[in-house]
Amino acid sequence: MRRVGILGGGQLGLLLIQSIHRLGGTAVVYDPDPDAPACQLTPHAFHSEWTNAAALEKFFKSCDVVTYEFENVESSSLFPFEKEKPIIPSSSVLKTTQDRILEKTFISEAKLPCVDFAVVNKYSELEKTARSFGFPFIIKTARGGYDGKGQKLVNSEEELQEFLAQSGKNSTTPFRAVLERALDIEMEVSCIVARSPNGEEKCFPVLENEHKDHILDITVIPARISASLETAIKDIALSAARELGAYGLLTTEFFLSNNPGNNSHGVQVGSWHIYINEFAPRPHNSGHVTMKACTVSQFEALARILLGVPLTQPHIVAPGYYCMGNLLGDVWLSQGSTGDLDLSPMCQFPEVIDVVLYGKKEPRSKRKMGHFITYANSAQAATGSAHSFREALQHKNVSALAPE
Ligand code: ADP
Ligand code: MG
Repeated sequence: MRRVGILGGGQLGLLLIQSIHRLGGTAVVYDPDPDAPACQLTPHAFHSEWTNAAALEKFFKSCDVVTYEFENVESSSLFPFEKEKPIIPSSSVLKTTQDRILEKTFISEAKLPCVDFAVVNKYSELEKTARSFGFPFIIKTARGGYDGKGQKLVNSEEELQEFLAQSGKNSTTPFRAVLERALDIEMEVSCIVARSPNGEEKCFPVLENEHKDHILDITVIPARISASLETAIKDIALSAARELGAYGLLTTEFFLSNNPGNNSHGVQVGSWHIYINEFAPRPHNSGHVTMKACTVSQFEALARILLGVPLTQPHIVAPGYYCMGNLLGDVWLSQGSTGDLDLSPMCQFPEVIDVVLYGKKEPRSKRKMGHFITYANSAQAATGSAHSFREALQHKNVSALAPE
């Protein structure tokens, strides 16, 4: 039985393990937190810091192949182990995609489309680079950002001075960032590519994503775009995966704009301009919808690659639309629950075909705690029932509080 090591024990690991088990594999998890969701599903777990080389060595020794579901594992700490065991995607793919400076540089050198950007390698360069780049821009830290953390919109010289004053307080820590042109975005989409080391390549259907407060809110499949736009997006995602040399899963996040302004590095299809935003070399939150919407889910595709099982083309299961909605800790908090979520509104929503809760112990605001999937004949019905279902969960306690 092949032993698959997973660095990181969050919900992506939890859902991957289910697919690994279904194919007869064994999962080994490495996560400092013994309460991490994925640890519920396997007795084979290592709980140590990411920097503990001896613990990492033991972990690698106990696996046949290793992947990661968490991008902030320091890639350099994995290099020595890659000589002994395959890491899929490789640590060099992780190195590029975990650092926005390396990522953007890769995208532009590979002549792939991205919004205009400038690189800041140290704090002392920031002011000059910002002025010559021009306002407004979004400043994004090179490392460690997620769900909109580590980024800020800077509209003017005044806001730049404010930002400099704030970040100057910590100027002893290395400061590396990219400045990015703020784009007038019409739609965000993602595309997951699965590649196996023996040459198989499959592209998932394009996913349409809506964000709220910089966090993914809902994903719709099929995306409401033309066939030619869908083909162009898949071609770019596939070229990026090949160019990066990525095996396993590579998710590419895209911005689509009808009004690109000065951003001249997009790929144009009709009135649309396509830009790569960023990559994730792992299963992606938007890809949760594939668990019900596609003949092969993102987790199954990755499990097959890791276990050496052939890949098949993921197709959409049925005509109509599927919508995935995230369940953040706020839903628990609005129910006044610190434990179980009351799912009783589900009986009023036959469009809800799946609910997945990750078993995280502490509901916190903005923390991803679960998701659900709706299915309906139209995109409007699928997204409408997703929003109404979440509202109903959130207001679950309203009738209980209402005077009799
Ligand atoms: P994260 O690592 O947090 O996902 P992203 O760079 O993907 O960081 O940014 C999160 C979200 O912020 C994006 O999905 C998009 O909605 C918005 N955003 C990021 N960069 C830009 C930009 N250059 N122009 C307009 N909106 C942006
Ligand atoms: Mg993103």
